[in-house]
Amino acid sequence: MTEARYDILIVGAGHAGAQAAVALRQRGHAGSIALLGDEAELPYERPPLSKEYLAGDKPFERLLIRPPSFWTDRDIALLPGRTVVAVDPAGRAVTHLDGDRIGYGALVWATGGSPRRLACSGHDLRGVHGVRNRADVDRMIAELPGVTRVVVIGGGYIGLEAAAVLTKLGKAVTVLEAQDRVLARVAGEPLSRFFEGEHRARGVDLRTGVAVECIEARDGAACGVRLADGGVLPCEMVIVGIGIIPATDPLITAGAAGGNGVAVDALCRTSLPDIYAIGDCAAHVNAFADGATIRLESVQNANDQANVVAKALTGTPEPYDAVPWFWSNQYDLKLQTVGLSTGHDRIVLRGDPATRSFSVLYLKDGAVRALDCVNATRDYVQGRALVVGRRVLDPARLADASVPLKEVAAG
Ligand code: FAD
Repeated sequence: MTEARYDILIVGAGHAGAQAAVALRQRGHAGSIALLGDEAELPYERPPLSKEYLAGDKPFERLLIRPPSFWTDRDIALLPGRTVVAVDPAGRAVTHLDGDRIGYGALVWATGGSPRRLACSGHDLRGVHGVRNRADVDRMIAELPGVTRVVVIGGGYIGLEAAAVLTKLGKAVTVLEAQDRVLARVAGEPLSRFFEGEHRARGVDLRTGVAVECIEARDGAACGVRLADGGVLPCEMVIVGIGIIPATDPLITAGAAGGNGVAVDALCRTSLPDIYAIGDCAAHVNAFADGATIRLESVQNANDQANVVAKALTGTPEPYDAVPWFWSNQYDLKLQTVGLSTGHDRIVLRGDPATRSFSVLYLKDGAVRALDCVNATRDYVQGRALVVGRRVLDPARLADASVPLKEVAAG
């Protein structure tokens, strides 16, 4: 069998992979490019899956990252429906599920991750859903007409977004969070408490500090969630939003350094020759996390690391140094985050959460490290410079919402 070969082979046709292909052509790469992925679809945006797409407000066609003609016009070969199972760094080839090999000059690994599953019995029943791709959400949508009660396990962004949509669709929603507050991994207490209040005000039964024992079954489908205290929450649908496991097995098996993600340097190079990794699966040293090695799960990071690789592969290398940002939409609330709050030693509340427009600033050693802005786009826009400049500013002035942040910064 003839082995296909591409100058640049991108594995994973999500946000990072698609942007890498786009940026390579924008930067003048003239060689062959293939974008291979295990999903059937053209590259599409993932954030609407737990928002407008689940709500039925946005058809799939509007999620496409580029129209179909874009890829053919730029001679980017799309290879959908293929799962890479092995990487051969010495032979410069990957193997996909049906056994075919595809050769490469450079390999860009952009595989994201798969939803972490519950470890308890019942995790794989019909009616139990992770939320990662279109197929996941289409399965949920197909079941919804027969669903009145939903239990969401995990009070992170995806779980809370799904809870908001399903509540709006008239479902009775319970959210179970193991920690003592929602969003505990990513945000400070004022933000957690605010979102808990918003969900409860709309009728969500939101419970924190709750351990799940198992999912109960009737006729092969989920019919309830049993808690560690013995209580059972009857339901027809369970949504599990407890994080992802980076999809890195073939690369790690091939010898790439890594653990929670594939380790990459500032140019997104893995420890294997001519193999790069980007997006959710890439563990990198991040200046905004005090130089800790982290993975970021955001569209911004996927796009920025894709651009870093495109620059490196077109002969103009520039290290990754992007300020992290993120957003989440729940009900009529628009959360915008800039910077990373991990490691903060002080929180400044700016504005009154009761007005549903406020910001939470995270400081470390007096310097602004991150902002969570709820319906406060001006703070988000102006706060970015404070994060980038690691500005040390008077906390009392930062807390005064009547003074624009750029004026606070100007002194
Ligand atoms: P993905 O976009 O996941 O792409 C990886 C692709 O690789 C997938 O198609 C996967 O199936 C494929 N793949 C995996 N393994 C293989 C293999 N072995 N062979 C072939 N293909 C493979 N971010 C935000 O910034 N804001 C938001 O509001 C937001 N909301 C989100 C809501 C949901 C429901 C989800 C799931 C994510 C959300 N995110 C959000 C996160 C954001 O979508 C991700 O950070 C982003 O998609 C990461 O891009 P990626 O290319 O690394 O991974």
